[in-house]
Amino acid sequence: MKFGIVGAGIGGLTAAIALRQAGHDAEIFEQADAIEPMGAALSIWPNAISALDEIGLGDQLRAIAQPINHVAIADWQGRDLTRFQVDHITPGQTAYLPTRSQLQHLLKENLAATPLNLGQELDHIVEDEDGVTLHFDTGLNYRCDILIAADGIWSDIAENMTKVTPKYAGYGGFLALTDPIAAHPTSMSGTEYWGVRERIGVFDLKDDRKYWFYMKTGLRQDDLSKITVSGLADRLSDWPPEIAAALAATDQQDLIPFIVHAKPKPKLMAKNRVILLGDAAHAMEPNMGQGGCQAIEDAVVLGRISRNATEHELAEFYQAARLKRVGKFTSLSNQGSIAPHQLPAPLVKPAHAAMRVIFPAFANRQMKKLYTF
Ligand SMILES: Cc1cc2nc3c(=O)[nH]c(=O)nc-3n(C[C@H](O)[C@H](O)[C@H](O)COP(=O)(O)OP(=O)(O)OC[C@H]3O[C@@H](n4cnc5c(N)ncnc54)[C@H](O)[C@@H]3O)c2cc1C
Repeated sequence: MKFGIVGAGIGGLTAAIALRQAGHDAEIFEQADAIEPMGAALSIWPNAISALDEIGLGDQLRAIAQPINHVAIADWQGRDLTRFQVDHITPGQTAYLPTRSQLQHLLKENLAATPLNLGQELDHIVEDEDGVTLHFDTGLNYRCDILIAADGIWSDIAENMTKVTPKYAGYGGFLALTDPIAAHPTSMSGTEYWGVRERIGVFDLKDDRKYWFYMKTGLRQDDLSKITVSGLADRLSDWPPEIAAALAATDQQDLIPFIVHAKPKPKLMAKNRVILLGDAAHAMEPNMGQGGCQAIEDAVVLGRISRNATEHELAEFYQAARLKRVGKFTSLSNQGSIAPHQLPAPLVKPAHAAMRVIFPAFANRQMKKLYTF
């Protein structure tokens, strides 16, 4: 089969690799003029590591990324709400934290002969019984058997197919990578600290650097330009010391602002000759750190299914394989903002007490399933 892939994010690049390995022709079209190193870092949980293993990239990721095995959520005073060890849930497997540019580079390096066409913004598509024609704003047209829309949360193709638009999730914040922090060396751990309608996560990176993210209820684009690292450090000065250390090792110009948008769990991920993949299919809030992981799973499952399905069966088989699982992650991720972002102040303490009981029960029953590809 001949695939046209729109979007060279995690989803599009992984799909190209998986489809090539399955013996198909694939070509990627990306609107950006260059694939620049961008973003901070992202957690790749055991389910996505297993998926990367299936296409031969797992060891390459393990070689460059920081393993994260000890994960905790704590209150703003550093008292655990939950703590778990990833390799206790999935024996022999842990999570990894590559920087986004490391992951992007790894995927790009593995594209082999797949053409990556930059500066090509998709304008519209025309689908007929025999194929799909992609029309780009440069005037280029490309004919393929199957279109993979991996063009992210704002995908027009996804919106036309599903009639669902992303909504502001009610919070935003910053991401950053720090300079090395000698006083807090790497220990394969990451902790998210929850206050009242705000939280900050600090995760280990290689070379004693940290990846941190701060999120606060109600923040919108205009608010973000008014926030400084030193202001944040003052605001969180009585939170645990690793936060102050991470903020002190961050330059203002290295802050990456973001506003969270998401969609509800999907009901449709593919139709006829058009397949939605990654955020185009299931834009979830970042609370489980699984948006990119699910894009990787989508791509690897698509590659697997494409080995035996015909072009007429592919959409149906892919959707049947993915809809329930990505729906579960989307629902859980979107519900994950209720406790840290939506509770009124008087309910926060009782909610934290309840979480100390609920989380271990959840971890034992559910997380093994979620972390198994
Ligand atoms: C704060 C935050 C933290 C997160 N942390 C994690 C984490 O720890 N772990 C994790 O797994 N996930 C995480 N995620 C989610 C993750 O970032 C996304 O799920 C993932 O990047 C989606 O990849 P994608 O390839 O589907 O889309 P994208 O990365 O959005 O790529 C889409 C590509 O399509 C291109 N494109 C768009 N429109 C067109 C067009 N018309 N023509 C041509 N090209 C087009 C874009 O330029 C872009 O390159 C986080 C998200 C946020 C917001």
